[in-house]
Amino acid sequence: MKWFKLQQLKSRRPQMRKQAVAKLVAEEGAKAVDHLLPFVADPDSGVRKEVVRALGQTKDERALTALIHALRDVDGDVREAAVVALAQLDNQRAIEPLTRALGDPRHEVRWRAVRALDALGWQPANDEQEVLRAIAAGEFSKAASVGPAAVERLAAALRDERNPKRRMVVEALGQVGERYCVASESCAFDIIGGKLLREIEPGELVSIGARGIESREVVKGARRAFCVFEHIYFARPDSLVDGQLVYATRERMGEELAREHPAAGADCVFSVPDSSNAMALGFAETSGLKLEHALIRNHYVGRTFINPTQASRNAKVKIKFNPVREVLAGKKVVVVDDSLVRGTTSRELVQMIRQAGAREVHFRVASAPITGPCYYGIDTPQRRELIASGNSVEEIRRFIEADSLGYLSEEGMLNAVANGGDPQRLYCTACFTGKYPVVREEAVEAAAAVASS
Ligand code: SF4
Repeated sequence: MKWFKLQQLKSRRPQMRKQAVAKLVAEEGAKAVDHLLPFVADPDSGVRKEVVRALGQTKDERALTALIHALRDVDGDVREAAVVALAQLDNQRAIEPLTRALGDPRHEVRWRAVRALDALGWQPANDEQEVLRAIAAGEFSKAASVGPAAVERLAAALRDERNPKRRMVVEALGQVGERYCVASESCAFDIIGGKLLREIEPGELVSIGARGIESREVVKGARRAFCVFEHIYFARPDSLVDGQLVYATRERMGEELAREHPAAGADCVFSVPDSSNAMALGFAETSGLKLEHALIRNHYVGRTFINPTQASRNAKVKIKFNPVREVLAGKKVVVVDDSLVRGTTSRELVQMIRQAGAREVHFRVASAPITGPCYYGIDTPQRRELIASGNSVEEIRRFIEADSLGYLSEEGMLNAVANGGDPQRLYCTACFTGKYPVVREEAVEAAAAVASS
């Protein structure tokens, strides 16, 4: 290695040292490792970050100890760079220090540690690691059995300014006899003979121990942004979510839909079972149309939109629903579904209903058009797969081959959900409106990918 290159590393000016580090790695690769190691302790944090990055690029195992040391750096940028660099080394010995990084006070460090650990095939060894992983990954909520010290560590992780989870946790606290329990939906308490005590607030940490229930507001003034899709599709209708019975909310959505998009002269209305059952009921009550059960659902088939391939989704639609010919023959019908994602399932359904003898098929959707993915834990398709992200309502109608198509408006959807409350203040509607309550790294990356495609 040329002498003058090494001399540049010793420059008094941090900027020069940074440039020398980058140049050295670009030209010498792994051969530069031994020369770079002392600079992990450089007094300038910018140089330390550059060295850590460079060591990751070398992918050389000799850098491992130095990078583990950098995980304790006072500067968050250096710690974040160290996590990325450790992931690049792809070495199982990095797992243990990376699990400690799950408790880092900075969200970016924890989030990158989760990605690195996932890539290394790590599995949480206990409840505390499970919860720290969930917090770092931005998942919605977790329950854990941990000791008092771990409760403090979890509270610290939740307290991070930029952690979206803290604003989005709403879970249920219940009681069975003398014992307490927690669940993601209140219907779980009915099943075990318990009752809902109350929902857990965003930013609230509830611990249940020898002194009973203790509640702490670990994030002051946490903003609500409750997932509106829970009301539309995910939650069970017999659950109380955000103070509302999901069944009643869906019924109101159907009523709003009938007011916004009536289907004059139709003979009957029916749901795409089961999540839209209450919506079809609301539509029937408001429109005066007869409610039928014209699609019979096979309960041994799961949710179709999460299936990985189009072929498997199409096959499942056919197995999942069977149209009742005797109800449909010669009729002008209204079909109510809770949402329309790619459009392919709706298209299959419309074809199936026509083949069963329906004269006209009018499709109604009890939520607004889905135009963007979810970055908060719901496994939705990418933007380019969402039919409403690049097509007008008329184009979607033509694609699904319906005689008419009507979506519930954003306003109608929120009015039904809020039921007199302030809808703008309470709910996340990002996959419908693009108004993401918390900007996540994935959202930024996805936006950049769309821009460059
Ligand atoms: S983006 Fe959509 S699915 Fe995700 S939390 Fe917001 S409303 Fe729910």
